[in-house]
Amino acid sequence: APSDGAPQPKRGLLDIAPYVGGKSAIAGVAKPIKLSSNENALGAGEKAREAFAAAASSIHLYPDGRADRLRAVVAEAHGLEPERLIFGNGSDEVFALLNQTYLEAGDNIVTSQYAFVAYQISARACQAEVKLAAEPELRADVDAMLALVDERTKLVYLSNPANPTGSYATGEEIRRLHAGLPPHVILVIDEAYAEFVTEPDWESAFGLARTAPNIVVTRTFSKLHGLGGLRVGYGYAPLAVEQAIDRIRLPFNVSLPGIEAAIAAQGDEAHQRASRDLVAEWRPRLTQAIKGFGFEVFPASGNFILIRFPDAKRPASAAQDYLQAKGIIVRGVGSYGLPDCLRVTIGTEDQNRAFLDALSEFAAG
Ligand code: PMP
Repeated sequence: APSDGAPQPKRGLLDIAPYVGGKSAIAGVAKPIKLSSNENALGAGEKAREAFAAAASSIHLYPDGRADRLRAVVAEAHGLEPERLIFGNGSDEVFALLNQTYLEAGDNIVTSQYAFVAYQISARACQAEVKLAAEPELRADVDAMLALVDERTKLVYLSNPANPTGSYATGEEIRRLHAGLPPHVILVIDEAYAEFVTEPDWESAFGLARTAPNIVVTRTFSKLHGLGGLRVGYGYAPLAVEQAIDRIRLPFNVSLPGIEAAIAAQGDEAHQRASRDLVAEWRPRLTQAIKGFGFEVFPASGNFILIRFPDAKRPASAAQDYLQAKGIIVRGVGSYGLPDCLRVTIGTEDQNRAFLDALSEFAAG
């Protein structure tokens, strides 16, 4: 133990690497094309923007701590019981709340090799261990995950679709994972990108969660609805889980403008459709074009694609630098253990064309 008397963070905390978001600026470039954070290329919808602007006259007021109007709107949209919803400052906060509520030092969470890091950071802050099941094919292996579960496992996290791989688990795989868990373990299915999936064997876990005492399904307003900057996400949980979390949640964890904009966004079906259509149109077009340049593209089910650069003479890092010199920001995923890959958010038509032009130059250069 250090002897100089200086304050010390709790054990293990300084071993956690801070979360680093996608870059948003390039020196000397006024308007970079930002394809690094899986945001909605269309921005927020008109209705959400208007609701956000209208909220300005109320920002001296505290928000409704239980977000009751938003709760009712979300419950109605998905056919869920309103009292079973947990709202958070982004779905990131819902993961943190689950971890804080269920993990003691020495407990563990189980997730998969390339899982979204937010689960892991907050679990480690609880002095819990993170167990990662190998993903040899860049998709979650349900049996490998089950093999890691022990009596100290409190939560199992699966993102579906997954970031950064873009892969998804089928409804059958999710049911098998759930069926293989002991009842004391909570299965958290992170459906941040759910609305972009078009594969017929994918299903939302909302249905399975309805009657299960140990499933939480999370969703977010950051992706489909384009409200990443406002931080609104939620989980659909068994009532007992919601009631436990509600005791330690910060009193006003979702902001007043966030609540108002999310209510409007949930009702804006035209913007949701346009956002889904953009991804559905460009995901295959980008995939095909990039493969044509000689790079690998993994099957993608979210609003982003993962590209592998197999040629050591044209590595991912050089592609990232080349794109950046053209004003285009993409995400390196070395911190996820994928140093030969780049993750690229699907942009607007103009952004996608600019990206393809630059990548084809890089491939030819
Ligand atoms: N889950 C996954 C898989 C994500 O990629 C993200 C966003 N990066 C989130 C959850 C968090 O979204 P938010 O906190 O904005 O709701």
